[in-house]
Amino acid sequence: MEIQVSAVRGLPLIRQGDDLPGMICERVAFEDGDILTVASSVYSKAKGFTRDLESIVPGADAVRIARKTGEDPRFVQAVLDSSASILLEEPFILSELPFGHIGVRAGVDHSNIEDGRLILLPPDPMAAAAEMRDEIHRISGKDVRVIITDTCGRAFRRGQTGIAIGWAGMTAIDDYRGDTDLFGHVLKITEEAVVDEIAAFANFVMGESHQGVPAVVFKNCRTWKGHDLIYFTAEEDIIRAALLKEKKKD
Ligand code: GDP
Ligand code: MN
Ligand code: MN
Repeated sequence: MEIQVSAVRGLPLIRQGDDLPGMICERVAFEDGDILTVASSVYSKAKGFTRDLESIVPGADAVRIARKTGEDPRFVQAVLDSSASILLEEPFILSELPFGHIGVRAGVDHSNIEDGRLILLPPDPMAAAAEMRDEIHRISGKDVRVIITDTCGRAFRRGQTGIAIGWAGMTAIDDYRGDTDLFGHVLKITEEAVVDEIAAFANFVMGESHQGVPAVVFKNCRTWKGHDLIYFTAEEDIIRAALLKEKKKD
């Protein structure tokens, strides 16, 4: 069966307290094995992981960094509050979140929300995906796989793509190590980050601005076996180590 990808259309502007899984189930005829991707922005809005700029008092670090980046110090404070550690302060803040993700401005958004308000990444996106999956099972009786996505910049290349920040019902990595290629060579290093590949295409279908498509459903995707260790450990991550070494010099 061919893979089928559909936008979930007709969702309203999401507000705190909205029953997002219920709203999605009203619009999708789920089947077992479907993959539902949901933009972290709407998950966070539904759960109230948002902040009002007005209520944020920037500390000395936020004021100092904001002077370099030209951003609102209150926005910078929100980024610092979301971060476990800062890897780069300029030309943009690059930080590590408590759940392991490293991203620009800690994924704090001021688009697709009212002026003066910020959307934060869900603090525990794995739990968010698991909860979404359970809720959809409760409502529809179907066993659906779930990916929570965000749009994120990349090292080495211009342009942002969708990435997975949380997933449930699948492993992040399809581990090809030990498999043989067309010529019988045993693969030694290939670990395919499948959740990111699906998130990237979902993000393409969602768009980034006024499209109003925060959820996308994939049908007929294969299953795979692997593991969830998508974030490098501190010892493995040579880029992170290099950035921290550079930061120490300042
Ligand atoms: P992010 O990638 O998770 O930061 O989310 P984006 O802000 O890029 O939005 C992804 C998609 O969801 C775009 O199509 C937006 O127009 C849409 N979107 C964002 N917020 C809402 C909302 O509250 N309701 C609806 N229907 N769509 C939204
Ligand atoms: Mn975002
Ligand atoms: Mn986006």
